Order: sequence, then C-alpha cells, then structure tokens
Amino acid sequence: MGQKPLVKPSRDILVAARFLSEGGIGGVPTETVYGLAADALNPSAVRKIFEAKSRPFIDPLIVHVSDMRMAEQVAEFTDEARLLASRFWPGPLTMVLPRKSIVPDIVTAGMDTVAVRMPSHPIMHELICAAHTPIAAPSANPFGYVSPTKAEHVIEQLGGRVDFVLDGGDCACGVESTIVLMTSNPKKLLRPGPVRACDIEEALSQKIDRSPKVNEAHPQAPGMLKSHYSPKSALRLFNDVSEIPSDFKGEIIFIKRPDEIKSNYYWLSQDGSPKEAMRSLFALLRALDKISKYGIYCQNPPPGDDWLALADRLGRARNKMSK
Ligand code: AMP
Ligand code: MG
Repeated sequence: MGQKPLVKPSRDILVAARFLSEGGIGGVPTETVYGLAADALNPSAVRKIFEAKSRPFIDPLIVHVSDMRMAEQVAEFTDEARLLASRFWPGPLTMVLPRKSIVPDIVTAGMDTVAVRMPSHPIMHELICAAHTPIAAPSANPFGYVSPTKAEHVIEQLGGRVDFVLDGGDCACGVESTIVLMTSNPKKLLRPGPVRACDIEEALSQKIDRSPKVNEAHPQAPGMLKSHYSPKSALRLFNDVSEIPSDFKGEIIFIKRPDEIKSNYYWLSQDGSPKEAMRSLFALLRALDKISKYGIYCQNPPPGDDWLALADRLGRARNKMSK
C-alpha cells in the first residue's frame, strides 16, 4: 500500500532529494498545504525548519512517509492504526502514535508520540522515495500565519530561507490534515481537516472526542492554539449580512456565491461545496490580506462535520484583530 509502480522521478525531484540528503530544507507540495521539508532523521536539518518559520520548539512536526514500511520505522502501529492507514492513506490524515527511538527529539518536541502521515501528492511521494528517508514537514509559512496553498506563497514568505521550492500546483485540499491522537481512549480529534470525524468513527466503529480540552501552555497540537492561521488584517465572522454595519468598506467573504453581487463581495465556493470552500480559503485570505484597508468579514459555515475544518480555521484566524 502506498507503493506505486516505479516511475523515474524528474530531475527536479532528484535535485530536491539531494538537498534534503545533505541537510537542506525546501518547500514541497502536498495535497493539504505546502510543507517546509527536512530529513526527519537529521536533527540539525530539522532545526532549520524551526528557525525558518520562527516556530517554537515545543511545537512538534508531522513525519511524512512513502509506505507502511517507513511508517512502522518511525511509529508503533496498533491494529486500529493499520485500519485507518489502509482506509485513508495515502491521504490527508495524520495519526499521533507512540514513537520509535529512531525519531529525533526535536521532531516530537521531546514527547513519546510522533505524528505520521502518508501524503498522496505524487511529487511529495516521489520526493520521499528519492530521498530514502521520512520527511518532517510543517506548513511552509511563518508560524501563526495562513498556510500556503500555492508554490508562490512559499516563495513570497520563505523564498530567501530555503534551498528549493518544488512547484506541484495548487493544493487539492487547501487546509491542513486531520490529526487524530490514537493513544488516548476515546481517541481525540486534535485538528479537524479534510478527512471528516464521522468517516474516522465509521472506519473504527467507535466515537472520537471532537473537541478535546486545550492546554494553551503546552498544546498537543499547535494548530490547537486559539490564534493561528491568522491574516494580518482584522477578520470578523458573521452569520447573516444584516450583522455587518451598513457603512463597512472592507471585503466580505461568503461561503457560496451570493445572488446579489457587490464589488467588495467574494465567495469560497460557487454552490456551497465544503471541499471547494476549503480549497479556496487560505489563498483568498492571503490575496485579500494584501489589499485590505478596513478588514474582512467572513461568513460562518453551516454546522456539521463537513464544515468542521473550515469553521475551525476561521475561528482561529479571526482571533488576531489588529493590522
Ligand atoms: P503544521 O504542519 O505546521 O500544521 O503542524 C503540524 C501539526 O502536527 C501540529 O499541529 C503539531 O502539533 C501536530 N503534531 C505533530 N506531532 C505531534 C504529536 N506528537 N502529538 C500531537 N500533535 C502533534
Ligand atoms: Mg502550520
């Protein structure tokens, strides 16, 4: 599983793999968001990720693998973890599992667990195969800012700090992976994402805790910090346009294309598809952040599992209110 027929990687992927083998870091496409990659087994390379992102060292990284053999080299798998892997990998699900000793402390923030994911993006898959090592990669953005969903987002913000950026086009999911803590009972949804909580529950035939309590001083996942994924502009949320002051001159984002359109109206999807809305969110926030003078209003998504990831990201993005 996860093993693809042998395809010769492009020269660019081989060059990137070479950088990683020599302790470099680079921007890489995945199906969720762009990652900032380093050889997960090389602590000094991993340190460069933290420095480039200004990421606190208490914030552990996700280890990306190309196949189950590599996954079992870094983490202890239970039958349930294997079941989720067979159902959702390669894909946007991260499992937090007991770590194996091969994983350096800097990757796990010294914890006895490690977060593992097998991405489905073909370039990322080929890169891990070509580098012959698991790849640690958080999102390729300065800590706390909106995650990148295009190669140019990475170049804009981290271009001067990385050895390479592989362009794999726009990210198909557009939000970070779903993270599940597999070592607790019940299992905990640490971060909602493209794989829905109800799909995990169905696969496991058990309920998972969708809103685990957060310890802000030592969050189990930094994505859990109240303020994260924030644009610089003030971002407020609304349910109905009537809540927006009539003299508001800033940008207004709707979940789906409104019937009546004004020049400051934007939308995340044509017809209310959660997948399309997730795909658009970060790129639109970045674009509006560049032009916004008076702040942004964004509509709250409807309730339900389909919209949990979007509601979560908006809830954290709106916390930072000052320019
Ligand atoms: P990022 O890719 O920047 O969104 O960050 C990776 C996410 O994985 C963060 O939210 C981490 O806290 C989470 N993560 C990585 N390792 C662990 C772990 N051992 N336990 C809990 N969460 C983790
Ligand atoms: Mg991140």
